[in-house]
Amino acid sequence: MLEAWKAGYCRVDDIEKLFSRAIKVVLRTEAESKAFSLAFQRWKQQTISGKAGESLENGSIVACKSKFDTKIEASSAQMYFHYYGQLLHQQNMLQDFVRTGTYYAAVMENRADFEGKVVVDVGAGSGILSLFAAQAGAKHVYAVEASEMVEHAQRLISGNPSFGQRITIIKGKVEEVELPEKADILISEPMGTLLVNERMLESYVIARDRFLAPDGKMFPTTGRIHMAPFSDEYLYVEMANKSLFWQQHNFFGVDLTPLHGSAFDGYFSQPVVDAFDPRLLISQSTYHTLDFTSMKEEDLYEIDIPLSFVSSVGTRVHGLACWFDVLFNGSTVQRWLTTAPGSPTTHWYQLRCVLAQPLYVMAGQEITGRLHLVAHSAQSYTIYLTMSAKMWGVGADPGGILQTSTAKLELKEPYYRLSQPQAYMPQDQQQLPLSSLQAQGSGQQMQDGLSPGITVDQERDSAAFTRQV
Ligand code: SAH
Repeated sequence: MLEAWKAGYCRVDDIEKLFSRAIKVVLRTEAESKAFSLAFQRWKQQTISGKAGESLENGSIVACKSKFDTKIEASSAQMYFHYYGQLLHQQNMLQDFVRTGTYYAAVMENRADFEGKVVVDVGAGSGILSLFAAQAGAKHVYAVEASEMVEHAQRLISGNPSFGQRITIIKGKVEEVELPEKADILISEPMGTLLVNERMLESYVIARDRFLAPDGKMFPTTGRIHMAPFSDEYLYVEMANKSLFWQQHNFFGVDLTPLHGSAFDGYFSQPVVDAFDPRLLISQSTYHTLDFTSMKEEDLYEIDIPLSFVSSVGTRVHGLACWFDVLFNGSTVQRWLTTAPGSPTTHWYQLRCVLAQPLYVMAGQEITGRLHLVAHSAQSYTIYLTMSAKMWGVGADPGGILQTSTAKLELKEPYYRLSQPQAYMPQDQQQLPLSSLQAQGSGQQMQDGLSPGITVDQERDSAAFTRQV
């Protein structure tokens, strides 16, 4: 009954009575204990499915909300897990060869971290990472998955018995399920657009605190958000033109112009997701590191990144380009999974925050600012971007004129700009050597054994989650 309480449901009255009815079960071996614990979990999932407020013979059920439920709107979570419950979306991720191939390589090259070890797969989806861990010799893998995908994962695991017999699938949220033993290593793929979208990193950190033994490992271990200012006149004009529709004075006799400003703002509140040419970057990139092994879950509620760049060209700055990478800090090989522009494309592509008011810079000029990410209950973030540059020239004050441009964007509602050809057009600026613009350390180990490019279906999807392609 205590388990039932922890699981999120408890009766309003008579808790004492419930305890007084408890029975003592003595389990002699570790195997017996594990088997009992798992059987109990399954029973609990099937039995304790009452809704809050429902009355029972000896009381009524109240929901004791889990950490996930207190932060996330029920409607968002429902859509989220419905999305991941569908095989087509799991297939899209599996077909991202850079992603899946890098996970496979990171696990197989670090067998020592898996052989004979207890593994927890955090958000197992189809169970693919559990199967990789079992292939690498894991003693046992607990595959935790909250969506209906567990049914398919069970079938996949049963169909691969040589590995599958060492995998146990547990349906539920990592914030809520109980596991019979601590893990030596966690494996997970919790990254969304801009690394943090979907807020699953928080679940990964909670899983660490709940399931990982002291000194246990995490795959991935750290993540970095990379940022650099970019200049892309074509993108800017394309976005500004979208709202031209609202400049019509006579649309079937109606003046649409009162809504032009709102439409313009609306388009610029959408971060752009596409694969761009790294030559559009006008300065060396910087990065912000998230250490999954030591960070607190609350550190992900608000992420504040100071920005400072030096422009290598005189140009118009149209905003901030962002991408991420994660490190598998194995004891044998350190492997990076990167989503950098110019590297083989992944289903995450890159993300650009476009300023409605571009800045003008000269070569060697400093661009400063701030990227402020604020988490919200719909499993995403509001992005607040500020970029400034000091301008000198005819008519300017002796200290220069500070130009500042700000943007507020919604990470949950990006503009998927994937159908346009991504040709690079020099925009009357000197070209930079590619190497000087690549993120330091990224993509270094990507090439060996992995073929470039992916075979994802590039159709757009209107679902609210941004792993889709
Ligand atoms: N590991 C799989 C799937 C990654 S997608 C792979 O690499 O292919 C992320 C998965 O985590 C989704 O299937 C989603 O339903 C699940 N998930 C997200 N948050 C979760 C949570 N809090 N508890 C359990 N599963 C979760």
